[in-house]
Amino acid sequence: MKKHNFSAGPSILSEYTIRNSAAAVTDFEGTGLSILEVSHRGKEFVAVCDEARTKVKELLEVPSGYEVIFLGGGASLQFCMVPFNLLNKKASYLDTGTWASNAIKEARLFGEVEVVASSKDANYTFIPKGYKVAEDADYFHFTSNNTIYGTEMRYDPDVNVRLVSDMSSDIFTRPVDVSKYDVIYAGAQKNLAPAGVTLVVVREEALGRIARAIPTMLDYRTHIKKESMFNTPPVFPIFAALQTLKWYQTLGGLSAIEKMNLEKAAILYDEIDRNKLFRGTVAVQDRSIMNVCFVMADEYKELEAGFAAFAAAAGMVGIKGHRSVGGFRASLYNAMPQSSVEALVATMKAFEKQH
Ligand SMILES: *Cc1c(COP(=O)(O)O)cnc(C)c1O
Repeated sequence: MKKHNFSAGPSILSEYTIRNSAAAVTDFEGTGLSILEVSHRGKEFVAVCDEARTKVKELLEVPSGYEVIFLGGGASLQFCMVPFNLLNKKASYLDTGTWASNAIKEARLFGEVEVVASSKDANYTFIPKGYKVAEDADYFHFTSNNTIYGTEMRYDPDVNVRLVSDMSSDIFTRPVDVSKYDVIYAGAQKNLAPAGVTLVVVREEALGRIARAIPTMLDYRTHIKKESMFNTPPVFPIFAALQTLKWYQTLGGLSAIEKMNLEKAAILYDEIDRNKLFRGTVAVQDRSIMNVCFVMADEYKELEAGFAAFAAAAGMVGIKGHRSVGGFRASLYNAMPQSSVEALVATMKAFEKQH
């Protein structure tokens, strides 16, 4: 039976990415070696890494003065690397969920952190608005998509300081005005590649302005200078990332991808709003087009386990909600075909007919 992979991360990758990655495991570009066993300094892999950086710049329309690097350590390492490199005295953070609050916790180790607003008291069911960011903040950090709660900021916030964003779960899903940002970072395992590599886009002028010493491995300048080859980078995830980036270009770039994502999400949200058995969990205007969270309507709460089993039998994988929200979460990353979203909707309709 066809499986529809709605997992939140690691998550679905394009067939193109999987096919080319599988081929390279057997024979990497005619070298007679597997991508799993080649030197990161060989000319074939250096070319892969360079091309991947170039494609990131093309897709995100990264202006000059910025560098693209591939690091280990996950998005979680960026929670400390960002303040290590950028926080001189004070930084502003928006608290919109678990990942945002983890980033805040790390930043506090390095200086004053002003949390401009939080929706924690409402279990992060909305994105706070109307907050003010202090003019003297070194940067304003926000999580563009809250993977766990299903809220998203599909815009570059209009504040008076430089932006830093954790875009782990919605990078490459819409055009971004990179010129407003000092750092954009994203773990690969939601919209790019298997786990193991983190994409960082950083403005070079933002670096070297702090007083503290930075350990070599945690200094962005180390990795910029060595073009992500200071130490052994995650070779296979970078190869897979390149395949995904190529595929994104064949789709027509980020505006075309955004349009597809909006359509996919609308199909599912329309069903959640129509179907008497289900309801959404977050403020409608802040709904994520990547992670669609929903629960059983109050009168049908006892059907939750029944729907989970019914959906699993229909080939739906990974739709159990995060433990902090409960219910269900369907992640609709770029590689998720519309036909799978339609299959989920058909499953919800079929379940409704039985009740
Ligand atoms: C998954 C996720 C993370 C954590 O990423 P790791 O690579 O596991 O450290 C951080 N932020 C967001 C928004 C995420 O979705």
